[in-house]
Amino acid sequence: MTGKTHISCGLLIGALSINYFHTEIFTSVTIMTLAVISSIFPDICHTRSIIGRRFKLISFIVRMLFGHRTFTHSLLFMIIIGALLVFIQSPTRYIVTIMLGLISHVILDMLTSRGVKLFYPLPINVRFPFVCRTGGLVDLSLASAITVGTCYVLLRPFIDPFISQWIH
Ligand SMILES: [Zn+2]
Repeated sequence: MTGKTHISCGLLIGALSINYFHTEIFTSVTIMTLAVISSIFPDICHTRSIIGRRFKLISFIVRMLFGHRTFTHSLLFMIIIGALLVFIQSPTRYIVTIMLGLISHVILDMLTSRGVKLFYPLPINVRFPFVCRTGGLVDLSLASAITVGTCYVLLRPFIDPFISQWIH
């Protein structure tokens, strides 16, 4: 999946978290930022990805050590990050947002033919039975649909009264 699709999914997760936890503005901005970062973070193993370009050295080292779409796209990685967040006593709303961001990334990558090494260090490629091409029509449509969903979640308090007026 393209970075744009991952980011749009991160924004949706951020919007849903804000709605669910009813956060005030400062926490909402933090949640949005964390959601976007965590939704692209697993691609730190790819030097040309959005996050990899920012942190070239770390990205290079991760790639050298593990390869692309292996450790950072695995259940093991998610468990380690989750345990670390609990250990440093992050607020639940941040932990939930970050974990959902990471999970969304792996699920989206499972929609591509290459799949992910979900059970790393076991060398098994996991992907959905239906896959799509990165940057292809499905990928772009998905990003657009998710973006529309995000706008709806964020603007719901303003949109819903209009819709109910229409129906009645
Ligand atoms: Zn990825």
